[in-house]
Amino acid sequence: MAVTLLRGMRTPIPFRSNSGFFSTVLRPRLSRFTTRAESAQATEPKAAPRSIQLATKEAAEQKTQGFEAIIGIETHVQLSTVTKAFCSCPYSYGSQPNSTICPTCMGHPGTLPVLNEKVVECAVKLGLALNCEISMTSKFDRKQYFYPDLPKGYQISQFDIPIAKKGCVDLDLPVEFGGGHRKFGVTRVHMEEDAGKLLHSESSSYSQVFLVY
Ligand SMILES: [Zn+2]
Repeated sequence: MAVTLLRGMRTPIPFRSNSGFFSTVLRPRLSRFTTRAESAQATEPKAAPRSIQLATKEAAEQKTQGFEAIIGIETHVQLSTVTKAFCSCPYSYGSQPNSTICPTCMGHPGTLPVLNEKVVECAVKLGLALNCEISMTSKFDRKQYFYPDLPKGYQISQFDIPIAKKGCVDLDLPVEFGGGHRKFGVTRVHMEEDAGKLLHSESSSYSQVFLVY
């Protein structure tokens, strides 16, 4: 089970006139056959002439004027519950693959998922800790997608009504990160079950699928 946290961090405009965000790499044209050594040397990036660097930097600055970089982070949080999110199977991270499963968490037809109230408790606590608005009415949705770690074809998650939203985290930044006080917005906290887990062999000839981990 997992709680997903989408965190939007608004950053100041990074493209200042004296910033070093822009660089130019000119790829040399190979107009003749080259030896292996020449070829390796030829693919080494060469610094562009100073005039081209300045022109590129100015062009990039013009194009980014009026834009602001907004960086979002999605964080999955593993909850310390005794059982899984939607059935009574024990949840113990690191247990043998497919050893704690039942028809419900395998998504067999006709089974009925039952929400673990401890998951809701943890999600509400997290929402409050992140200064979110707690939804007094919430619901779950089926997220349909196809991937080997999801043999039942859908994941129980939350979409339009998450358990918590519109929060923030207040932080005093360390001096090495610019110092000062910053407020980071928290878009939402929602609950969802974990998908399965894929383990790829070192020889890459096969993969193991832990249907429910
Ligand atoms: Zn189960």
